[in-house]
Amino acid sequence: MSRATCATIHLDALRHNLKTLRQKAPHSQVMAVVKADGYGHGLERVARALSDADAFGVAALDDAQRLRAAGHRQRVVLLSGPDEAADIPVLRDLDVDAVIHHPSQLAWLEHAAAGPPLRVWLKIDTGMGRLGFPLAEAVDIHRRLRNCPAVQKDIVCMTHFARSDEFGESMTHEQIQRFEACLQGVPGERSLANSAAVIGWPASHSNWIRPGGALYGLSSVDGRSGTDLGLRPAMTLSTRLIADKRIEAGDSVGYGAGFVAQRSMRIGIAAIGYGDGYPRLAGTGTPILVNGRRTMLVGRVSMDLLALDLSDMPEARVGDPVVAWGEGLPIEEVAARAGTIGYELACGITRRVRFQEVDSR
Ligand SMILES: *Cc1c(COP(=O)(O)O)cnc(C)c1O
Repeated sequence: MSRATCATIHLDALRHNLKTLRQKAPHSQVMAVVKADGYGHGLERVARALSDADAFGVAALDDAQRLRAAGHRQRVVLLSGPDEAADIPVLRDLDVDAVIHHPSQLAWLEHAAAGPPLRVWLKIDTGMGRLGFPLAEAVDIHRRLRNCPAVQKDIVCMTHFARSDEFGESMTHEQIQRFEACLQGVPGERSLANSAAVIGWPASHSNWIRPGGALYGLSSVDGRSGTDLGLRPAMTLSTRLIADKRIEAGDSVGYGAGFVAQRSMRIGIAAIGYGDGYPRLAGTGTPILVNGRRTMLVGRVSMDLLALDLSDMPEARVGDPVVAWGEGLPIEEVAARAGTIGYELACGITRRVRFQEVDSR
């Protein structure tokens, strides 16, 4: 029999989350961000579930190609734009929008061979310190793009937030103000909001919101799960118990004898480990569900297996279902135990894990 480890993707949760975000930003169009294989959920299945998004955002030209091959006709936006001049004809062929954030990209457009003009999103750095033109250059770059025959005239101006997941923090407000101030008099649509800004910063909604994580039910807000934010988890990572045993006070469990029992305990072994993408740094105390009931890991996570406490679950048997995260156990709780965020765990599911889809519409 194949390994029990399985990532179940809830298509209805994806749709619910898109609807929830639309309700929060009713006057905005939605670019569904599906980079990193739909945040680890599977690009094609995510795009199918979210097919009424107004646009898709991707990080790689290959992903844009996959969306076109799957028949999606709406706008697809390559979030870091062309990596080299040779990407420009490919963008044209696929009818994919390019984010332009660097002078080298502007030069490739200005020297591009004649052909159908590209739709362009001009990215301005208002404080993220990653991609984008400096505020002081925004108007000039916008003018050059408008005058460039390789570019369509309806340019969208965009920026990205560094701290929008901190709702009480002033930096997002400052980024919004800088963005608006530097673009005064510049025509065209605007886009600022990632997931956390859609939820916590209504002033940022503008013409296009760009949610990623929230579509999958993920939260980047410290101390709050996706469920706390009114979202539904789109992934449940599950497996089964494959062994159980009794240990006595003084007995240890796992590599490094990382856990030593203080009393007689019943231990269960589940068929999941860091080889599946379960975080190795989530050790003793990390919550996990057995038969839908909460217990905790004991000892170190190994490649294929982890150990958990069955002392209070005398009814649990080999073959019983184990949920690592998802419905009933927020991924954020597991991520916090490993010093990371749910986004990273969702993106880190490995190839040997079987994926299945459910749709309870
Ligand atoms: C990844 C990304 C997003 C989505 O961010 P989330 O926090 O997942 O909502 C939006 N805009 C850009 C430019 C991105 O790179």
